[in-house]
Amino acid sequence: MFSLPKELIKAFVVLKRSEFITCVKNSGYYKSSKNIDIALDKLNALNEEQQNILYSAYDETDGVIVLNLGEPVELFFTKCCGGGTSNSENILGYKVNYLRKVLCKKCSERCEEVKVDCNTLAELLNCRIKYKEQIREIIKDVSRDDTGRIRKLNILGKDITGEKIMELLKLPSNRIYFKEDSIVLKVIGEGLGLGICVEGAVNLANENKDFKDIIEYYYTGVEFVKIDEQKIVNSLEGRKIVIDAGHGGKDFGNINGDVKEKDINLFIALKLNELLTNKGADCTLTRYKDEDIPLSDRVKIINRKRPDIFISIHQNSFPQESVNGIEVYCFKDDSDAIELSSMILDSVSKNVELKNRGVRNGEYYLLRESKSTGVIVECMYITGNYDSQKLEEDSLEKIAEAIYEAVCEYFNVNK
Ligand SMILES: [Zn+2]
Ligand SMILES: [Zn+2]
Repeated sequence: MFSLPKELIKAFVVLKRSEFITCVKNSGYYKSSKNIDIALDKLNALNEEQQNILYSAYDETDGVIVLNLGEPVELFFTKCCGGGTSNSENILGYKVNYLRKVLCKKCSERCEEVKVDCNTLAELLNCRIKYKEQIREIIKDVSRDDTGRIRKLNILGKDITGEKIMELLKLPSNRIYFKEDSIVLKVIGEGLGLGICVEGAVNLANENKDFKDIIEYYYTGVEFVKIDEQKIVNSLEGRKIVIDAGHGGKDFGNINGDVKEKDINLFIALKLNELLTNKGADCTLTRYKDEDIPLSDRVKIINRKRPDIFISIHQNSFPQESVNGIEVYCFKDDSDAIELSSMILDSVSKNVELKNRGVRNGEYYLLRESKSTGVIVECMYITGNYDSQKLEEDSLEKIAEAIYEAVCEYFNVNK
């Protein structure tokens, strides 16, 4: 099996770590995910035996990430660039400053000839072909970048990208040439030619170049910085969160005797704010006291702040006292909101012993009009014969703590 030199694995680890960092410009803090397994799933060249090498590569590059113009870079690699990598706009369609064309003198000009017959081509493209048509006649307007990779071309009247052709004909690369008199394609290299050329990088590593040399060879204008990952995974610094205490003022929300939903919501919201702020999060509440705030103003606060998440706190009621438990609402298919919801449900139902009534789809104004991921937590049924025993401060504090723990879990931060 193909095995990669350690310095190349380190280069991948460093680039992958960079990808998992959100650069918070003003405070200069970084966030990262510790989960290197998930981070490296893209590198299918790695086999199980290389897991140990992977972990030591992770330790040895301790916190090093790669920045371009102050922003973390992403990992791009190609198996063999065949003599030159590409400018990003030719492959991705947009400019990435660090993905500039690099002449790679480190890989072989691997070249393959592929025979394609016109009929197969026509079939794949769902086109009709005239009798005895020559490949030269059906392929027109070939546009290439300056490494010779096909940007797009026209086959039988259809505009197709080089990447699409690669996919259709299962070609290893988009550096494709058409031979004059027959239906033969000459294909150079393997992959799209973006970022690190693996074959070239293997040769660099064998020349005793380290991971920084490898990255600098293929990435343009990058710098290396070291971050304190331990500190990062223990803090919510840089995370923006809006906490919305439902109702308020003359809008009491649900009631049960003297108990008003608006007061419970505010109590939990203030406690949650305290916990999250202590953990470094940048929190905003839609209200800090007992006042009536229209829903449209709450949405405005959210959309102005553009938080990572917002959490709206409510309490339910029902005519029958046998109905008890916590429900969390999120908007349609927002998978982030669904993830956060199930974490909140798990945490609250376990720690406060409330019945888990599940994640629900909520077509509510607040969820629909807000541009950020958010959830409405109906913590309990204040009319429930069981839940109404949880209305004293101790239990309400526990609910806030359980939501806080779920938020930490959501952001992959130790609570
Ligand atoms: Zn190369
Ligand atoms: Zn409510």
